[in-house]
Amino acid sequence: MIPVASDRRADWPSHPYASRDSLHEHDMWVAEGLTHRYPTKVLAELLSTCPQYCGHCTRMDLVGNSTPAVDKLKLTLKPVDRYDTHITYLKAHPGVRDVVVSGGDVANVPWRNLETYLMRLLEIETIRDIRLATKALMGLPQHWLQPDVVEGLERVARTAARRGVNLAIHTHVNHAQSLTPLVARAAQTALDVGVRDVRNQGVLMRGVNATSADLLDLCFALQGEAGILPYYFYMCDMIPNAEHWRVPVWHAQQLQHDIMGYLPGYATPRIVCDVPFVGKRWVHMLTDYDRERGISYWTKNYRTSIESADLAALDKRYAYYDPIDTLPEAGQDWWHTHRDD
Ligand code: SF4
Repeated sequence: MIPVASDRRADWPSHPYASRDSLHEHDMWVAEGLTHRYPTKVLAELLSTCPQYCGHCTRMDLVGNSTPAVDKLKLTLKPVDRYDTHITYLKAHPGVRDVVVSGGDVANVPWRNLETYLMRLLEIETIRDIRLATKALMGLPQHWLQPDVVEGLERVARTAARRGVNLAIHTHVNHAQSLTPLVARAAQTALDVGVRDVRNQGVLMRGVNATSADLLDLCFALQGEAGILPYYFYMCDMIPNAEHWRVPVWHAQQLQHDIMGYLPGYATPRIVCDVPFVGKRWVHMLTDYDRERGISYWTKNYRTSIESADLAALDKRYAYYDPIDTLPEAGQDWWHTHRDD
């Protein structure tokens, strides 16, 4: 996850269509830090810091401070005011039933504040799923083993169970080598105090885990040894300086094919492409694919908050781009000619 300059491709460090907020989450904010991108689900970004900073971070435009080279998006409201705006929106929109509570990483929210936020969510009858997003379960399992955090999680899990709400933790492990006994203990502790499920959303990365052997090794370790459900692998998003990690869609399709049949069906991860302006799609769901130029086309079945007036949104085809260095020569030549278009 560490961005190392020497790992990057000199020819194409970034795809010409890469952008720092490639999923346009900020455009879909309905309150500060609250992205409404799917009909029944929202993403709540409680803060903009992480205990670790990944070079492949899909939220790289928000997460972390500005640097001399990059001016980042900032959360400007006081946390308490920001959280109020989220709760107000969710109360006013009973069609939202699922809240992904994220950041950054919720491990960086002082526990008392996080617990207050979660208890307020649990008071909203229409919220039926709450998912806590924390890569720190893997990177800093000690956090999730601190007595005050474990006790607080138990209080939240008990309240969720009483109200029939599914409370889960979603973590982010990309390789079996990251799964230590302490990570397994942190996951098991969360389950012991009543969290319904701990699930993994990894990122598919060339040179790290983009082989069927590496993926299966990780999935067996997650499922068999750590009590973590291998839920998704995301294709790395089209952010700058990630071309050395990204894989083409055909490669992701091949991997999905090759990992079938080894794990229980419910624990066989889906490999998904998060298509800009569309959302998650299973990698076989594309409608068309220009393999020479590496352009896949996708459709959608709902409007996001920025398209409510766009009647044609459901008839359009949305593009996703393979890394250029993986294309046949003719495709690479085409991009060299059109790189400044
Ligand atoms: S843990 Fe997640 S949010 Fe934090 S830097 Fe990594 S990818 Fe981004």
